Amino acid sequence: MNIKENLRTIQQDIKEACSRSNRQADDVHVIAVTKYVSDETTKKAIEAGVKHIGENRAEAGLAKKEAVKEQATWHFIGSLQSRKVKQVIHEFDYFHSLDRLSLAKEFQKEADEGETIHCFVQVNVSGEESKAGVHPDELLSFMKQLEAFPAVHVVGLMTMAPFTDRPEETRPVFSGLRKLRDEVMSLQLPYAPCTELSMGMSNDYVVAIEEGATFIRIGTALVGNEATSN
Ligand SMILES: *Cc1c(COP(=O)(O)O)cnc(C)c1O
Repeated sequence: MNIKENLRTIQQDIKEACSRSNRQADDVHVIAVTKYVSDETTKKAIEAGVKHIGENRAEAGLAKKEAVKEQATWHFIGSLQSRKVKQVIHEFDYFHSLDRLSLAKEFQKEADEGETIHCFVQVNVSGEESKAGVHPDELLSFMKQLEAFPAVHVVGLMTMAPFTDRPEETRPVFSGLRKLRDEVMSLQLPYAPCTELSMGMSNDYVVAIEEGATFIRIGTALVGNEATSN
């Protein structure tokens, strides 16, 4: 795995996708998803210039953050059990999987006085049963109900597209999330500016950027997958 080279390739793809879609490349942030790689590889990614690290499990993510001393912004991208909120709430900078009011309630309970918890609301745009996320029809009502939890600040929306080797098929999912984001923004909720879109992974990030992604979450194509030793 040559992480530097992978990062260069991804940055070039970002540039080209942004120029095709009249966007600024600076508006697209790369989260290196390190769930399948070692602490060493994670450090190498940061040394190669990665600024954002994503982990999807509480214990493993905390252990990695503890071992990797380098400066980075830490993203919790996996589904989060309410009983684990206490462990992770002060350790991660962003939570990408707010998908139920009971989780917001737990954030509110565990937040310090005046602390802001930066969240993405996960939306199940594709409607796959296996996927977590708020149903698109319920999103606006969900957003309004978050007012009851002032510690929770919604920076954006997150989705996962169905896995496919034909990335073009993911486009409606990503454009759907963008439309939902625009609807939420038009509510002008002070606790939910909702400017960001967390979407796109190794196999579909180019399409996600063309449709407006501001955070792409890339594991395999950037840092590899040491669990399957490729
Ligand atoms: C694992 C994971 C990713 C990265 O997947 P790759 O296909 O390896 O890029 C992105 N987002 C979430 C939520 C993940 O769990």
